[in-house]
Amino acid sequence: MRHFLTALLMLLMLFSLAGCATPGTDGPTPAPDSEKTTQPEEPEPEPYTILDPTVMPEGGVRDGVNYAAWDGIVEHLFFHPVVAYPELAFDGDSQANGIDDYMVTADEYRKILQSVYDKGYVLVDIGDVWSETTGEDGMPKMVRNTLYLPEGKKPLVLSYDDTNYYEYMLANGFTYKLVIGEDGKIASWGKDPQGNEVVSRDLDAIPILDQFVEEHPDFSPFGAKGCLSLTGYEGILGYRTQTDTKSWTEAQEAGRQKEIEAVKPIIAELKRTGWTFGSHTWGHIRLGSKSLETIQADTARWLDEVGSLVGPTTILFYPHGERPDGNDWQNTGPVFQYLQSQGFRVFCSVGIESFSYIKKDICAVICDRLHPDGTTLRYSRDRYLQFYDAKDIMDVDVRPQRGTDWS
Ligand SMILES: [Zn+2]
Repeated sequence: MRHFLTALLMLLMLFSLAGCATPGTDGPTPAPDSEKTTQPEEPEPEPYTILDPTVMPEGGVRDGVNYAAWDGIVEHLFFHPVVAYPELAFDGDSQANGIDDYMVTADEYRKILQSVYDKGYVLVDIGDVWSETTGEDGMPKMVRNTLYLPEGKKPLVLSYDDTNYYEYMLANGFTYKLVIGEDGKIASWGKDPQGNEVVSRDLDAIPILDQFVEEHPDFSPFGAKGCLSLTGYEGILGYRTQTDTKSWTEAQEAGRQKEIEAVKPIIAELKRTGWTFGSHTWGHIRLGSKSLETIQADTARWLDEVGSLVGPTTILFYPHGERPDGNDWQNTGPVFQYLQSQGFRVFCSVGIESFSYIKKDICAVICDRLHPDGTTLRYSRDRYLQFYDAKDIMDVDVRPQRGTDWS
């Protein structure tokens, strides 16, 4: 019933907007039916695609801005949680080098956002880059949408892996969870090195981007932010919504239900402000080496414990970047087929460029993402110069002294 009402609402909005702009799509507008199969009904209307008047389905001038077709590469950067307190993260303990390898600090992250903004990138939602349509053979297939961007701008997708606030991170200089601050906006909650509770919008990747877009609205002409890649084994967004089937008591279940209720308004506010969600598997499992049975059980659990809260998604982010069935862009093996049958259409790995490939034999897209982090700041400066210069970004003083190949 709720889905029906939502569909009706969206249909009415479609008609009311038909005169000026088709909401939510860039380029070739898929038939409503095929779009519906691409993106299973959302529990609520997507805010930016419907409400934002700047969405341009075609080129043309609006509010003095000329929108032009973009057929080039859609760059894709992904981050892990950012380090709020470098003195805790880089204290020489057993986690320090891993954090140095895979993370950037909040200050580095702010500088990266400023740099990509200065270089003319604008945010687009990963869900708007491709659409599902019906091929000439009558089979469903993915197509690249033509993005219409403010003239001179380049599209950038952002994603954020492991936005779960794992236990091991909490004492290691990261924020503990997302909350809604007194101003009604998403903030982080955590503890500073002295143990004081801190609610802030300056310490976590998500509110930092929210603030950046508030200050630079033209960085997000369509209201997009980033896609949050979630596992489930320690809950989501800092809320312990997971089950533990080994030992499970009524008290534990009551606690879990409280966490579920607590995270719901966070999810709603994130969605309202342009954030979307994807799967990173429930158990952060290696899709290249686990058995099909294990992957099926994991996927069912993700859908049950995470998908039930964040809503349907077509985006899958490979843990460890590990591709299923060996080489997923040449082969379509049983694991890939299974994951696709569960609704996933965009399969994201990690690579040395924002490579993407529409598969011919199944309705799916493969895409690689670049990874701003300690390793690439130290050793891949050239590859990232189109986004930023590591020399200007890296907080050499707060990180372990492990060298770079550019200093
Ligand atoms: Zn991960």
